[in-house]
Amino acid sequence: MAELKLSESRDLTRIERIGAHSHIRGLGLDANLQPRDSSQGMVGQVPARKAAGLILQMIREGKIAGRAVLIAGQPGTGKTAIAMGLAKALGEETPFAMMAGSELFSLEMGKTEALTQAFRKAIGVRIKEETEIIEGEVVELQIDRPATQGAALKTGKLVMKTTEMETVYDLGAKMIESLGRDKVQSGDIIVIDKASGKITKLGRSFNRSRDYDAMGPQTKFVQCPDGELQKRKEVVHCVTLHEIDVINSRTQGFLALFTGDTGEIRAEVREQIDTKVAEWREEGKAEIVPGVLFIDEVHMLDIECFSFLNRALENEMAPILVVATNRGITRIRGTNYKSPHGIPIDLLDRLLIISTQPYTEEEIRKILDIRCDEEDVEMSEDAKVLLTKIGVETSLRYAIHLITAASLACQKRKGKLVEMEDISRVYQLFLDVKRSTQYLVEYQNQFMF
Ligand code: ATP
Repeated sequence: MAELKLSESRDLTRIERIGAHSHIRGLGLDANLQPRDSSQGMVGQVPARKAAGLILQMIREGKIAGRAVLIAGQPGTGKTAIAMGLAKALGEETPFAMMAGSELFSLEMGKTEALTQAFRKAIGVRIKEETEIIEGEVVELQIDRPATQGAALKTGKLVMKTTEMETVYDLGAKMIESLGRDKVQSGDIIVIDKASGKITKLGRSFNRSRDYDAMGPQTKFVQCPDGELQKRKEVVHCVTLHEIDVINSRTQGFLALFTGDTGEIRAEVREQIDTKVAEWREEGKAEIVPGVLFIDEVHMLDIECFSFLNRALENEMAPILVVATNRGITRIRGTNYKSPHGIPIDLLDRLLIISTQPYTEEEIRKILDIRCDEEDVEMSEDAKVLLTKIGVETSLRYAIHLITAASLACQKRKGKLVEMEDISRVYQLFLDVKRSTQYLVEYQNQFMF
């Protein structure tokens, strides 16, 4: 690793799909950190959200170090939703990483490696970079049209005005052609060759790695020939430590981020990265953004993992650790001891415990309304009443799943509004846990001989 690679990750845009929690935009608290009834996609669960609000305050005041949060509650009571809401409330850039305790035992890598990766996915690095940009407003493009109408444009003049001065650039026919339009608008990006002073690219879309990095050192991102218009602008990139690790440890570089083929990352690579990041921090070029690491089914971790967590929490770069479980007193994996939530006492000692409660019918209805909006599904009132009833009888998560399925059933019959018939159709097609178990019990003689 000659030089730490970062450029490839600059253009990475996080792909947002309509995930199960895409409607969660924060904890839904007011300025005094009191939960609003329904806000930022969050409904009910008031005491838990109030507690999460206090944790948010502790984090903001830097008083959380060395501690972690445990959310205890039944499945589907919003444990993940609250952890994600907390990350969102900390700021849009705050990384949120989540994993289930059981994943640690199924991955093709050591437990501590998997945990280290999870921790580093939840630590963001905000990198500041100075780029030379002309902050000008393009006000006019004069084009000398040849006499015959419709013929190709020959030359043009670009008048650019900034707060300080006005500059006129001559544009060649090729440049105008490449523009594909005869107007330059404010916000267009202009690339000027430093050596010749000529405009080499002009347009709206600008691919950093293709147009800037590939151009080589003689052409700057945006450079004004006379220097007077030159302004420095700070550009900020946000990546996670894990992304930097992957880019620097694989031959296929940043592609490894997409293939998921991360594998184990060598300790030396991480050490070099940490040293580099520490240097950047000292030079004021980078800041650490601790994110939220959510570990569900924490009772599935074993004693080695717990001691790893204890140590990792002491690290000054540690993310906010939120763990969740729905177990009561149970055995700590890897030992013969029992303890509350299957968590060793020394870690329990560091935990702030929040509990979540089952939802009321009204709350389920509200969450289903929000999910319909999020998935752009229009549903009749009757259908919503039925779906809410299903949610109460089975589980909230099952009812949420039926929204997409019912919408597909509705599309199939070329309907516009999801009706009761669509809901009952998919209710019959997809079993909830209770019916599935009942089915197995009823027919078990045929399954087992
Ligand atoms: P498990 O223990 O099975 O992991 P969980 O307690 O983490 O479950 P979630 O996955 O957070 O439960 O909740 C199930 C679904 O309901 C998710 O889509 C979640 O976003 C949504 N949800 C849960 N609680 C709320 C809430 N208070 N407001 C809005 N949406 C919620």
